[in-house]
Amino acid sequence: MGLEAGLYVVSTPIGNLRDVTLRALDVLASVDRVYAEDTRVTIRLLNAYGIKARLSAYHEHSDEAVRTEILAALGRGERVALASDAGTPLISDPGYKLVRAAIAAGHRVIPIPGPSAALAALAAAGLPTDQFLFAGFAPAKAAARARFIETLADVDATLVLYETGPRLADTLAALAAGLGDRPAAIARELTKLYEEVRRDRLAGLAQAYANVEPPKGEIVIVIGPPEARAEASETAIDAALREVLRSGASVKDAAAAVARALGAPRQAVYARALAVRRSDAPGPDE
Ligand code: SAM
Repeated sequence: MGLEAGLYVVSTPIGNLRDVTLRALDVLASVDRVYAEDTRVTIRLLNAYGIKARLSAYHEHSDEAVRTEILAALGRGERVALASDAGTPLISDPGYKLVRAAIAAGHRVIPIPGPSAALAALAAAGLPTDQFLFAGFAPAKAAARARFIETLADVDATLVLYETGPRLADTLAALAAGLGDRPAAIARELTKLYEEVRRDRLAGLAQAYANVEPPKGEIVIVIGPPEARAEASETAIDAALREVLRSGASVKDAAAAVARALGAPRQAVYARALAVRRSDAPGPDE
């Protein structure tokens, strides 16, 4: 195969070894070198298709030296492929710095598209696909995760997150608290023997995974966009605000939580929260 010089960003299967394109196999068989996140994983794919390649590691912690080595090979007119353990390189996987450096050095970067867990999950979730936001992995620590979820709360699109089994229950609980009870899907072990897509609302999913053994395998969380809710009445907003303020929340936090839960404009709810706090404050004689 007469391949041009350049960096080939090659997508590989996310489980089922048959999910590889003919072009990906051609490229892996023809390039001068293949850089892989974990060479043991990529060797399995190459062996399955009888491909012999000059394989080296390029992983998350690869330092400047490996990038320099790859750029030098590209500079000599070589054809270099980059593959990750599963799916599309750069998508929550190494490669961004390398692609950026290759472009800056004037080399061609050629994508060889194929599987990615985010798109496979989206295709099966049954949630709107006209606009979606891929958010990667939520932070592990509770405070950082809550802040991260807060930044997603007003995004008017389906959300796609990657997750691991041990962290799924905590992440789902935080998502249900931070986003409200939206429709969602948990896509697990896609393209593998125990493939499963569980569809429910966030609160139901959070409950289902709480206090049970963490699910095994790899997981994508897909969450529908904020639902168009009937305009909440002032009485309903005030009642919800009183409830949250009674628990000791600040006016700002209470307004944010109620605006999210009722789908009401934040500023208007904040103004109501100030009014409620004022009217409920104990008078001078009390
Ligand atoms: N680059 C990959 C891609 O394009 O999908 C993603 C790599 S990221 C390090 C690994 C995460 O992808 C897993 O924790 C999981 O969230 C998701 N993932 C990968 N394979 C999966 C599968 N077969 N089923 C469900 N999720 C998967």
